[in-house]
Amino acid sequence: MKINEINCKTALSASRLPGLDYALNPYRGCRHNCVYCYAPSVLNEKRSWGGFVDVKRNLPNILAKELKKKEKGRIGIGTVTDAYQPAEKKYGITRRCLEILLKHDFPVCVQTKSSLILRDVDILKKFSEKEVGLTITTIDDEARKKYEPSSSSVEERLNALRILGENSIRTWVFIGPVMPFITEKNIDKLIENIAKAGVKNIIVDRLNMKPGVWEKIKVFLSKHYPELIPNYENVLFTKNDYFERIENKIKMICKEYDIKCEKAF
Ligand code: SF4
Repeated sequence: MKINEINCKTALSASRLPGLDYALNPYRGCRHNCVYCYAPSVLNEKRSWGGFVDVKRNLPNILAKELKKKEKGRIGIGTVTDAYQPAEKKYGITRRCLEILLKHDFPVCVQTKSSLILRDVDILKKFSEKEVGLTITTIDDEARKKYEPSSSSVEERLNALRILGENSIRTWVFIGPVMPFITEKNIDKLIENIAKAGVKNIIVDRLNMKPGVWEKIKVFLSKHYPELIPNYENVLFTKNDYFERIENKIKMICKEYDIKCEKAF
């Protein structure tokens, strides 16, 4: 893993994601190295994903200057790469940005796969408007280790959701992407545990076949689930209703737990 400390020219960028006005990404590259990640195609990044992280070490200073001029709006933190990936433990760029954002009390929305977010509960809880989404795509931590290798365990994420909720921070879960034939295994147990963690909103997303993703998925399947390759090819490259069926199933289970479920696709 190559860590590069870099200087950036801008901090906030306009966001096209629903409900967000700005995006803030303290790191480029991501140690979590999820097999389905399409950030390289979003960023047009040619370096090997998972093998480098650029740390934007001057980001807090640039952010402080920008906030003096920006109109108040909701800021998505970690919209492209995870702001709580392992490098954050050492560099604390995300935490410093939160401290600056709190001075202006901009609404913040963080999405992560890391329980490191709990380190910053003390700051997050002071915002007037704050929410945190944890991505969880399976209840099976052995499967999680295979396709999201450097992220927090499922149990750690569920625990993070519980603690965030106890601190009056609104939480949600992103079941995305749905990994065909993996996410659906014990999906009722996953949702039951999400409900127990006090979560009231779930967003479901399908597996997006952006450039380069299928090649990585195929290598992953060949190694761990070779029997699933024909099924994936069928789901991903032929006309079928697989993702709709899974979404409907998740919605039905959510109803039992009084959880609002929306789809991202
Ligand atoms: S956490 Fe997000 S940005 Fe990082 S590798 Fe996984 S999908 Fe990509």
